[in-house]
Amino acid sequence: MSEQFYDIAVDAPLDKPLTYKSKELAPVVGSIVTVPLGKRTARGVVINKSNALENAGFKIKEIEKIHSEFPQIPIKLIKWMEWLSNYYQYPIGQIARLFLPALDKKEGSARKSPVVPDVLSRKSVSLNDEQKSVVDAILSFEGFHTHLLWGVTGSGKTEVYLELLERKLRQDEQALVLVPEISLTPQMIRRFSERFGGQIAVMHSHLTDREKTNQWWSIVEGKKKILIGARSALFCPFKKLGLIIVDEEHEPSFKQDAKLKYHGRDAAIVLAQTLDIPICLGSATPSLESWKNALEKKYYLHKLTQRYKGLALPSVEIVDLRTLDRELVEKFVLPPWLSPALYTKTKERLEKKQQVAFFINRRGVANTVLCRQCGIVKMCPNCDISLTLHGKIHLNCHYCEYYESLNEHCDHCHAGEYSSLGAGTERIENDLAKLFPDARIVRLDRDEIQGREALTEAIEKIENHKVDIIIGTQMIAKGLDFQKLTLLGVVLADIGFNIPDFRAGERNFQLLTQVSGRPGRHIERGEVIIQTYNPDHPSLAHAQIHDFIGFAEFELQQRKELSYPPFSRMACIRIHGLKLDSVKRAAKKLGSFSAGLVKKYPQFGNVHVLGPAAAALPRLNNKYRYHMLLKSKSPTHLRAFIKELEKKSYSFSGVKVLFDVDPINTL
Ligand code: ADP
Ligand code: ZN
Repeated sequence: MSEQFYDIAVDAPLDKPLTYKSKELAPVVGSIVTVPLGKRTARGVVINKSNALENAGFKIKEIEKIHSEFPQIPIKLIKWMEWLSNYYQYPIGQIARLFLPALDKKEGSARKSPVVPDVLSRKSVSLNDEQKSVVDAILSFEGFHTHLLWGVTGSGKTEVYLELLERKLRQDEQALVLVPEISLTPQMIRRFSERFGGQIAVMHSHLTDREKTNQWWSIVEGKKKILIGARSALFCPFKKLGLIIVDEEHEPSFKQDAKLKYHGRDAAIVLAQTLDIPICLGSATPSLESWKNALEKKYYLHKLTQRYKGLALPSVEIVDLRTLDRELVEKFVLPPWLSPALYTKTKERLEKKQQVAFFINRRGVANTVLCRQCGIVKMCPNCDISLTLHGKIHLNCHYCEYYESLNEHCDHCHAGEYSSLGAGTERIENDLAKLFPDARIVRLDRDEIQGREALTEAIEKIENHKVDIIIGTQMIAKGLDFQKLTLLGVVLADIGFNIPDFRAGERNFQLLTQVSGRPGRHIERGEVIIQTYNPDHPSLAHAQIHDFIGFAEFELQQRKELSYPPFSRMACIRIHGLKLDSVKRAAKKLGSFSAGLVKKYPQFGNVHVLGPAAAALPRLNNKYRYHMLLKSKSPTHLRAFIKELEKKSYSFSGVKVLFDVDPINTL
């Protein structure tokens, strides 16, 4: 056999595949191999047969071993990997690694509780007309199409998914269901296994490596037909994938923040395109990116407008915390966070033996300040995002360099005093326990509920009506479905308004719509009470009447004016280091280098550079953090621009420069 050359994506931080040779071994494209790399060896994937000739200058090394114990990675997946590497600027060999299971096949299998409960109970469901026509419409297309299923909370999107899956399984194809990690609840997995019994595999971060490896093989070998998982499930080489579903497609958690900074939804769409199969994105509050694509007919839009049981969506009442009825507050002796309206309704529901949930948004990490009297939040005059309080009086913008000092009294009404936002779940639990001594209370947040078993237990208690009051953070916002839950109070909506991010309004609308979707799914129409200092906030008005279309129209207009995504592409350049001086210096250098690029090259004229500025979280894990945001209408130019910055960034010592394309989190 003559000597043959191969391009191999080696598991190392290299920006290109390396060329190796072999005489005896005959790997094919997609083979997993071991190759020498410097003084060590590394695993890699053959991505090409190469025409390289052994030329002067360096010696081409030999492939050491082919791993025939792993399946070959199909050529189409290699194409997809190349896209990921190029789009997100990440070494291809380190992407290839994600396709391999953590452990070897079947070395001992200590069984605890099964990963997927065996609860086959084929309850027969017949779809209503709306649901039927959506299923038929989606299946009437052949090959790749992106479908956006927009259905109000409780409209039966999941039932539509189940039917789509059933039909695909009948054609002997497999399917991937991507969901945000947080909604991979026992409740949801049970629902899928009730329908498909032993045909389900599951992938999430709470599984052991052994469990993950076993789940992985069951899909690769085709023993299981449906993989339900968080975004990393995309890297499972299916035997015969025929459909991808992305539930809650708007969820920010589909974006990975570290290493390969990919967006699970976007990567899934490109994967479907590469494999020429349909993909269905579902949400009650689609992302504005997807919504715009649907409006422009790049995606097919399908609607579910009714709750399945015909119950109206909950009524939503907005309580203005600035103008509480003092007499009532005093009469009931209420804690400052609780309005008489929410207190009275809670009492009524508890008397009717129904359940009440209190939702506390803790996602507003940065310190925002607001006037207790008029409710106005301090905003950046340049960027239209909220300013962040540092120390006692320093207010900074984290997009540009704007700063000011905090005055004692409100700049707007000149009367009220400023205070920073925040309210703890524990305090709320204590207060409620005093007000309703007979009520059984459960708290669902990261301090109280650690691990899936604790969560399963808590959910079962709620399902079996051993709980009257549920207090929770984001954990209770999504997917959960309780028979007796009829009232939900949002303790302080304002926390979500003021995350210093241009998507704050969108997040807030989504969150309020999601939590408002929890009560009143079964026994009677639900009620939602939203407490706020800013009753006129635009996301509230639309959430109150469940008006997604109106909200999207308003928000898209805003984005267009400031050319934020989806009207432009963005990239975030993060500059981190242990020494503040070096970080600042590097940031400054990158800033002026960027300005130079924009001036010098006509193609970069459409790249807008914001910053550099200190990040909203200016110090994390002892590292100082600066960042710079890029905006451009042309993804190609943006990518070329990043490549230039990347070259430049090698010259800084003690400072790390990270590139995040389509950033979701800019804190
Ligand atoms: P979504 O995913 O849109 O929030 P779900 O699929 O969870 O909605 O449906 C809400 C509730 O209505 C669930 O309890 C579900 O079992 C029920 N449901 C939806 N469609 C049907 C149907 N066609 N037949 C029986 N029950 C249904
Ligand atoms: Zn600003």
